[in-house]
Amino acid sequence: MKTAIITVGKEVLTGKTLNTNLTSISSRLHQIGIDVNRSFVIDDKAEEYYQILDFIDEELIIFTGGLGPTIDDITRETVIDYFGVENYVDQVVLKGIRSYFDQIGLTMKDTNNKQALFPKNSIILKNNLGTAPGVIFEAKNKTIVLFPGPPHEMLPMLEELIDYLKDRLSIILFSKGFRLVGTGESAMEKSLVGFYDLHPNVNIAPYANIGEIKYVFTSNSESDLRKAKDAFYHKFSKYIYGGLSDTLEGVVVKILDTKNMIISSAESCTGGMFASSITSVSGSSKVFNEGIVTYSNEAKIKHLGVSLDTLNTYGAVSKETAFEMSNNLYKKTNADITISVTGIAGPTGGTKEKPVGLVFFGVTYKGVTNTHKKLFNGNRNMIRKRSTIFALNLVRKELL
Ligand code: ATP
Ligand code: MG
Repeated sequence: MKTAIITVGKEVLTGKTLNTNLTSISSRLHQIGIDVNRSFVIDDKAEEYYQILDFIDEELIIFTGGLGPTIDDITRETVIDYFGVENYVDQVVLKGIRSYFDQIGLTMKDTNNKQALFPKNSIILKNNLGTAPGVIFEAKNKTIVLFPGPPHEMLPMLEELIDYLKDRLSIILFSKGFRLVGTGESAMEKSLVGFYDLHPNVNIAPYANIGEIKYVFTSNSESDLRKAKDAFYHKFSKYIYGGLSDTLEGVVVKILDTKNMIISSAESCTGGMFASSITSVSGSSKVFNEGIVTYSNEAKIKHLGVSLDTLNTYGAVSKETAFEMSNNLYKKTNADITISVTGIAGPTGGTKEKPVGLVFFGVTYKGVTNTHKKLFNGNRNMIRKRSTIFALNLVRKELL
């Protein structure tokens, strides 16, 4: 279904408001298999509406903004006028707007009457969070949708539109997906060359985030979806840590809990991010007793017993220090597994031998300590976030 989105308003044109309505609407439509062809932002002038409507030929046209009561809100009357559809003032809606004003202790102005103007045979989209109702109507073989501008008012109406479209197009969609860590979008896309063609009836979309990536599968055929999913899982199982509703820290806590194990952490450059992400999971108190942030050399010596010799010879950012941090923590606590992180988050402090983004990890499990060296890119916070995700994934892999 060819679709266009037209965003109305000076605020968007002048950069005061970020056009989040466009991303919300187009990504939601994409989920039901409708891809937006074009999008426009226009000023709230009648001739702009006319010009753009003359210009486009899409079957589904969605407006957002300009449904309010003020003089400059002209979307409703202008679009109704353009399509020349019969219209009426809906008394029920009018009463609703009036009682909305009563509720907030204001008197309704006559200008609000126009918010109750609808094409005949249209679907009224109620607005419980403001006065401007939205509308869906059919005219000239097109589906026209008018949404208000404020996102919190628009979003519930978007769900009504989705239901309407699903009904009309008899779309039944199945959607599933995976979350992956330890690989990147470009590496994945390279491995997926040819894969998409093998599953033409399944929409497979990647969504990359810092340190992780998710793949969402949608299809109107449950069996095609399952085939694609199984093949994907088979190919990438070593990177897959869960389904769409999982989080990496949630998965780690769950594994620890199932195994009845305790974890402790010793962090330097992540400053407690690892401990914070573990403790963000409800129920983590069963698996997490303590986490130490040892930022300075003195703290590493004092709290973890890292030797001065190691620090002097190899430096705080080294596999030797990472080894001692985790190994000594393991001996000091009753944890079943310990993890350490030490690195250079930048932007200052890097050298040729030890550049910004260099991070060492130690993990001790069943009395054996292994170290890992990584070089992450990105700014300070991205390096810290990537380090935290890498550490969580190390623990996950160690326990599996
Ligand atoms: P109102 O009754 O609030 O006037 P309206 O439907 O007339 O509703 P606008 O006047 O166009 O909507 O916009 C109202 C507010 O909604 C803006 O100030 C802005 O905060 C938000 N908004 C408008 N358009 C967008 C958009 N495309 N993306 C995100 N927010 C938007
Ligand atoms: Mg307005």
